[in-house]
Amino acid sequence: MTQKCVWCNKENERVKEITALTKTGFGANLHERNYFVCPEHEAKFRKFNDRVIRYAILFVSLIAICFLGMVGPAIFHNYIWSRYLMVLSFACMGLVVVIFPFCSQTTFEFMSIATSIKVVRIIGGVVFALGAIGFVLGLLCG
Ligand SMILES: [Zn+2]
Repeated sequence: MTQKCVWCNKENERVKEITALTKTGFGANLHERNYFVCPEHEAKFRKFNDRVIRYAILFVSLIAICFLGMVGPAIFHNYIWSRYLMVLSFACMGLVVVIFPFCSQTTFEFMSIATSIKVVRIIGGVVFALGAIGFVLGLLCG
């Protein structure tokens, strides 16, 4: 039986089973899990997997800070700086996602890691661009 590669989602007979450390959710304990991957994608997969494990907490913290930066101004909207903070936080959230294109395990399994990284980076790029445009417009129209 041929297996699908976790990185490119292609089925081929060269796909081999490897063991890598994983986290089921942010904050969950590390444990070993088996993955199927083509030989030429193993290094890429391991590098990405290590990055997810290493930066998961930083990623979640940054997203949480950006989120607060967006929600905070909505509550204290009478301050002059609040809308700048809001668009800046929005732009930063896009940037964080471009730097750390992490999404859920389900998304990885659904689209392949290679595709989900691209999709998440594009969305992050668009969010960043919108935030940056909004910030410039805000300055100009002040
Ligand atoms: Zn592959």
